[in-house]
Amino acid sequence: MKQFQFIYQNQNQFQKELVKLRQWQKTRVTSHIVFQIFSESLERKKIQNICDMIEQELPEALYMGCSSNGNILEGRVETEITVICTVTEYPSTRLEMVQMPLNAENAIATVQKLSAIVSERPWVRGIELLVTIRGMSMTGFCDELEKLSQEIKIFGGGAFSSDMDNEACVFSKNGEYSTASVVFLLMGGEDLHITTMHVTGWKPLGKKFLVTKAEGSILYELDGKPAYDAYYKYLNIGNDEHFFNNTLEFPFFYEHHGLNILRAPIASNEDGSLTMTSNMEENVVARIAYGDPRTILENIRRSGQKIREFQPDMIRVYSCAARRTFWGMDEISKETLPFQSVAPTSGFYTSGEFLRTNGFVNQHNVTLVVAGIREGEPELSESPEFEMHQEQFSGKVSMINRLATFIEAATEELEQANQKLEFMAVSDGLTRLYNRREIERRIKERLQECTGHPERPLCLIMLDIDNFKQVNDTYGHKEGDNVIVTLSDLFRKGKQKYQTHSSAGRWGGEEFMILMEHSLAETLTLAEQVRQDFENIEFANGVGHRTVSVGVTAFIPGEDSDALCIRVDKALYQAKTSGKNKVVVL
Ligand code: GH3
Ligand code: MG
Ligand code: MG
Repeated sequence: MKQFQFIYQNQNQFQKELVKLRQWQKTRVTSHIVFQIFSESLERKKIQNICDMIEQELPEALYMGCSSNGNILEGRVETEITVICTVTEYPSTRLEMVQMPLNAENAIATVQKLSAIVSERPWVRGIELLVTIRGMSMTGFCDELEKLSQEIKIFGGGAFSSDMDNEACVFSKNGEYSTASVVFLLMGGEDLHITTMHVTGWKPLGKKFLVTKAEGSILYELDGKPAYDAYYKYLNIGNDEHFFNNTLEFPFFYEHHGLNILRAPIASNEDGSLTMTSNMEENVVARIAYGDPRTILENIRRSGQKIREFQPDMIRVYSCAARRTFWGMDEISKETLPFQSVAPTSGFYTSGEFLRTNGFVNQHNVTLVVAGIREGEPELSESPEFEMHQEQFSGKVSMINRLATFIEAATEELEQANQKLEFMAVSDGLTRLYNRREIERRIKERLQECTGHPERPLCLIMLDIDNFKQVNDTYGHKEGDNVIVTLSDLFRKGKQKYQTHSSAGRWGGEEFMILMEHSLAETLTLAEQVRQDFENIEFANGVGHRTVSVGVTAFIPGEDSDALCIRVDKALYQAKTSGKNKVVVL
């Protein structure tokens, strides 16, 4: 596999490059030629002209391209139009191109059509895609791509346009210049090998937010409050024309399918919602992440070393437009140039990066998707070096890195302390069962849930240890405590053993209440089981066998929790007055 990369300057120069290529090709055994054209310019005529010239000079060559936010050529950022020509050399290598219309309505059907094509081509090992996203949710598209054979690597990028009119375009030999299309390059054959990875480098800060309202790419609420508030409160970022640049260093970070996904805000709206780079999911825990140059470069180095071992013939990089803004033009090449030391590296700055990882296909943002492609087995016994200038890493750890570590550690400590406090607020110190307030709250909550849902059962079990005073008086308070704790353990074991939906609480002294989300028949069986199991325990130090009296009752629709609790108390009272050590149902 060979690659030629050049900048498009004008027709004359391009013509010369094409002629050179054709002459070179005559002297070699080649199987396919594919051009990739990445263009910052949206000039349709110019792009059309480039395509026509390729058609004319190299009619058998495939070509595809899209609009970009800047290009990557030989590992460096380039503006304007870049042309990458890849020539495959193995006869077994196969390439095929498909362009299809794409919009929110037909996204799934489009991938299904692709899937039908792929199923007839068992040689496919990888699919590279260029797509116009146009602000739409790509979830259905990605989910459908996931159904393709797990063996097939999937990677690519979203075409970019700086305006808000979704003028981003894709084009190919198989379809015309389009603002609503996807181009798939199918590649494979037994000698073609592909490796893919994604690099972010952005690290989450401690504080967790629950996404309580999101729709498509609009993030409305975090923890029930306008999403913008989080940026103002925690980062003091104002709602002004600098919002985009200021938040770029702090995108949102959440986990999806075990992968880290980043979403950056691109605008803050009047209602306090944020327009994100692509769709956000509801009910995920998101954190604000920070971009620190040193950490990012360390991540790049780690990925670079992996790709080096693969010994690719070429490297494709899909990098987020946000990364270009983050680094600025002078420094952006720092993260892509080292790849060039391994193999010719090209790509563009996207509006979204696509990658299949562990079977799942995700749309990323603020991410670098890297694909290494090779024909045949690695040639070198030793992989080429991944050259990164050492001085970028030397010196002190940056201040932002230290502060972020501090915040993370402090947040974790606070979270642990909070969990402890939360547990203490709802539990009883001696038995570690729920305390009375919590069990009362749970009864009320369940009662509300059951109202209007007769299929949802609700019963109560109330228990009181028989002649307990005597244990305290004869054997001491400590032995009494032991009896109480032993009975509590019995509830816990019972819950596990019988897999019940239940909550047990200490009602007071040696009285307990169990909320059962089971039928009366099941509840009675369990109550009787507890009574027997407890009776069979032999306590040490002369305490011997002890018993409990048990009241059981079922919720009657329409009544309140007081009425329910009074009735179960009555049942327990009847068990006590009719001889103890028994279960009475009322
Ligand atoms: P009955 O069979 O009628 O229930 O008789 P009883 O002796 O169990 O009578 P009662 O339920 O009135 O007794 C409750 C006793 O439980 C009184 C109190 O001293 C004791 N108690 C309450 N809380 C604790 C505790 O946390 N530890 C110990 N050891 N005893 C407690
Ligand atoms: Mg008692
Ligand atoms: Mg009592």
